[in-house]
Amino acid sequence: MQKTDKIWLDGKMTAWDQAKVHVLTHTLHYGWGAFEGIRAYKCSDGRSAVFRLRDHVDRLFESCLILGIKIPFNKEEVSAACAQVLLENKLKEGYIRPIVFVGDGEMGLLIKNPPIRLAVACWPWGTYLGEDGLKNGIRAKVSSFTRHHINASMTKAKAPGYYVNSILAKKEVVDAGYDEAIMLDAEGYVSECSGENLFMVRKGAIKTPPLTAILGGITRDTIMEFASDLSMKVSEQVFTRDELYTAEEVFITGTAAEITPIREIDNRKIGTGRPGKTTKSLQERFFQVVRGEDADYHHWLTFI
Ligand code: PMP
Repeated sequence: MQKTDKIWLDGKMTAWDQAKVHVLTHTLHYGWGAFEGIRAYKCSDGRSAVFRLRDHVDRLFESCLILGIKIPFNKEEVSAACAQVLLENKLKEGYIRPIVFVGDGEMGLLIKNPPIRLAVACWPWGTYLGEDGLKNGIRAKVSSFTRHHINASMTKAKAPGYYVNSILAKKEVVDAGYDEAIMLDAEGYVSECSGENLFMVRKGAIKTPPLTAILGGITRDTIMEFASDLSMKVSEQVFTRDELYTAEEVFITGTAAEITPIREIDNRKIGTGRPGKTTKSLQERFFQVVRGEDADYHHWLTFI
């Protein structure tokens, strides 16, 4: 990864190499914490804008509410920290990573008065699944690992510990030569990918799994809003992997992955094997909006 100069840590700008934690940091051992992934884009007019910052900060607080963690900063302070790291690192475009974690001092699962800490880092980060993937689509495989059961982990929270499940799935399919893992829920229905939500277009209708065993993705919500602008109906409903195989288009959404088409699943070509017109039009709209080219969506941008 490309380093920047400074990281916001517990309220202070700290040199990148000094932003360290003790090996007995509680979250490192048990995974109890919450984080966000946010992107800032360089707009066509040269300014820099963070995409849906308020929604990401809201989700960070919701994650902590779900997990029973009290953040020692308010939403305005967290939002300001996200803007400050970009400014101090002179970064116009990149990824922002706020993380709430439990520091060191006590061990054991349940500790009294956990020392809650907050860091916000940022760094330049290009396309997550590669330029070619974004343009021509990626190859995905259904993982043998089941997505979290709704009563095992509460998937509306974005907790570090939950990502062991994602890493297992991603590692399994990447080792087998694919780019991304599609995960089924505990009932066997399609849920989401290791770090992205999923959409399919079949017989002209757009479908995405409901918000049961998945993270409520902000890019997912963005796509649903764009689809409604274009008078396309998106239904949130369960579907099976064979329905995916017979789809005309499948694409995945996430802050890191943006809008990435899937061209093949389990060695079956999706549609023509090329990104379809719905995927392409939603992807195009996404990049126009994040780059500030659509004034109707400036309310989603925090200009820095
Ligand atoms: N699902 C999972 C499991 C994720 O980690 C992410 C990335 N945050 C998403 C979906 C997509 O969410 P968003 O669009 O808010 O980045």
